[in-house]
This record gives sequence, structure tokens and C-alpha cells, in this order.
Amino acid sequence: MPIQLISPDTAEDYIIEMSGDLGDDVEFPNKKFRLSQRIIFNCENLRHLSSFAMQKWSRWMKSQDTRQQFVFRMVPPRTIDIFNMIDGYLPDESIIESFYVPYECESCGHEELLLARRGREFVEALGHNAPKLLLPQEINCPKCKSGMKLGVWEAKFLRFLSHLQLPNNSDEINKVSE
Ligand SMILES: [Zn+2]
Repeated sequence: MPIQLISPDTAEDYIIEMSGDLGDDVEFPNKKFRLSQRIIFNCENLRHLSSFAMQKWSRWMKSQDTRQQFVFRMVPPRTIDIFNMIDGYLPDESIIESFYVPYECESCGHEELLLARRGREFVEALGHNAPKLLLPQEINCPKCKSGMKLGVWEAKFLRFLSHLQLPNNSDEINKVSE
């Protein structure tokens, strides 16, 4: 199923809708993007990405102009895990606008996702300060009213945000396609 590029060229930003199950046959838009517009990946309804689709996504981003700004919106925890696992997955100029943080209920097993938005529920690394979640460590389970705990280890889960703060030491090869 090819993914859709949903916004018209005249829009302020390009929005790429990453939704459903993206398998090996996923196709990213083959077009010239203007640098004045950001490319926003809306992952709100993204359920699954095959590992080959992840590779294709990474390759596609790297094939764009290095000055192109990418924005990641409503990224699910499993995709964050991949950002964390693969060094350099995200281009240096990426902006993480929001992502989901899982909570787990130890009593009834219910899982809940809370949205962490940039500058509101999370802050990026600043100087010597590590990136930080501003969400509570515990919330009330909507099913059984027990306490639900944060389902991730914060420092590990936010590792991808520190990576974006590293100095740009990538190669100087001009990767502009065309
Ligand atoms: Zn519960």
C-alpha cells in the first residue's frame, strides 16, 4: 500500500500520512520538495512498519536535500524504539513535535498512551541537561482505578532526543537527488 502525500503543493508544509501497516511495498513520494516547506510525517495512525519499510524511510530521508527540515508528529512508542536502536536514523535537522508514551497497569494489564508534545510534556536536551519528560510517573488506570506506571525507562526512551543535539559530524557528501 503506497503511502499518501496528503497536502497540496501550495500548503505551508508537506504532510506525509504514515498510517496503518506499512510493509515492504511502501513507496515514498518521488518529487522535488521546496526547502521553504517542512516535510511533516504524521504518525498518529501508524500501526506497524516492517523493517524493510523502516530502511526505505531512512534511505528516502537521506536522499533529500540535507537542509530539508523533517518534522515527526505523534510517533508511536515502537517507532521511537527504532529511532533509539539505530544511530543516525533521524536526520540531524529533525524536529520531534510529539510522540506517545506508554503507561501500564500492573493490576489489570491495561495500556494507555499519553501524548508528549515538544515544550509541553517533554523538553529536548539543553546544554548539559538531558532531555526530560514532563509527564507524571504514575497516572490512574481508567479501567480499574489502580495506579499506572510509566512503561518506559525515561533516559533510555528519550535517547533519540539527545542524538539530535549532537554536533553535525556527518559526511560532507552532497546528497541532493537529481
Ligand atoms: Zn488497571
